[in-house]
Amino acid sequence: MRVPVVEMDGDEMTRVLWGWIKEILIEPYVELKTEYYDLGLVHRNETEDKVTELAALAAKKYGVAVKCATITPNAQRVEEYSLKKAWKSPNGTIRRILDGTVFRAPITVRGVTPYVPAWKKPIVVARHAYGDIYDAVEDFAAQGESVYLVVERDGKEVRRKHIHTFGGAGIVQGVHNTDASVSAFARCCFGYALEHKLDIWFGAKDTISKVYDHRFKDIFAEIYRDEYADKFARAGITYNYTLVDDVVARAVRSGGGFLWVCKNYDGDVMSDMVATAYGSLGMMTSALVSPDGAYEFEAAHGTVTRHYYKHLKGEETSTNPVATIFAWTGALAKRGELDGNAPLVEFAQKLERAVLSTIGSGYMTGDLIPLFSLDGVTPVKLNSREFLLKIADKLR
Ligand code: NAP
Ligand code: MG
Repeated sequence: MRVPVVEMDGDEMTRVLWGWIKEILIEPYVELKTEYYDLGLVHRNETEDKVTELAALAAKKYGVAVKCATITPNAQRVEEYSLKKAWKSPNGTIRRILDGTVFRAPITVRGVTPYVPAWKKPIVVARHAYGDIYDAVEDFAAQGESVYLVVERDGKEVRRKHIHTFGGAGIVQGVHNTDASVSAFARCCFGYALEHKLDIWFGAKDTISKVYDHRFKDIFAEIYRDEYADKFARAGITYNYTLVDDVVARAVRSGGGFLWVCKNYDGDVMSDMVATAYGSLGMMTSALVSPDGAYEFEAAHGTVTRHYYKHLKGEETSTNPVATIFAWTGALAKRGELDGNAPLVEFAQKLERAVLSTIGSGYMTGDLIPLFSLDGVTPVKLNSREFLLKIADKLR
């Protein structure tokens, strides 16, 4: 390796897996170069969370990062770790700095049947990660109150729209988005579709939301027409916009194999549905792609706290490391691609193939056992470390 990958270490069971993955599957084969940031909660607390910001800036600088799952502290964690305060979600901080789109893709493997059996190929969910209800202003309204949408410029009112006059108690919410963020989102999605040769289905609700959702539709349409239509035609892929409910119905009827572009809330909800339908949280990768071309790879699941407490008691756990391994291979392959380092790309591909063929030949972690069925193969449940060693055998 010539340029380092930004390595963001994390918490609990995934931190344990992180160390083992490096020890068993990467360091024996790659002259690994990383710039290491410890985003474990203890170190975030020691640095007043500065380390998260530094790690995100490094990701921006080098262009490729790999992140371990981290604890987002709540009140219980503040007590458990004697924190100075409930630090913000590291993923939120990183997304704010990189300003990106989150792509979630299931890892499909021979013998593991999704709950929606027609989904033979992966559905990748692209989630806009800015604005809408995640940045909303809300309030209660009392009987007799009138609520308006007021627009000011230089402190002077320029427009006012009546929202509702409340005959009884109620609620009200104000949301926003920006052309800049929606445009960056569109370009990220079009770029990803080209890179992975996937058709796009984008759904919103422009029939009801004639300004807000319609603006998403228009921005996507303009950018597609001006910058991507020719490239899509050459690549033999299509961009499709329709109502979000129509996309949901089409997704279920499909055989998979497309990029499902979602507004922020739709992506939040639908990515959990898609991940679960494909089988296991342990088999879902997540990549943050920033508009200026930085990539951050991670697993879509959390720190698997329940398994970690068993591990601390000295018990074996059968925690699935596949999504975390694929975060590493995603980062190494991207680094190799950017640096023209073909052997690094090849190593990442071989490691992924070794993981899939290990599972395909019947060796896996406990979460996959109930989903596995393949003629002539009896699935064997391994603990996490045994599973990693089995993959290493296959890789060699
Ligand atoms: P979680 O860590 O994803 O685990 C929830 C449950 O899902 C586990 O108890 C386990 O079920 C199953 N599971 C998840 N990943 C698995 C894997 N790799 N192999 C096998 N089973 C797996 O979610 P959580 O327990 O709600 O959250 C734990 C911590 O993670 C929290 O502190 C949260 O803040 C953090 N978190 C971080 C991220 C991130 O960094 N991206 C994302 C989400 C949550 P069984 O117990 O039934 O085996
Ligand atoms: Mg969600």
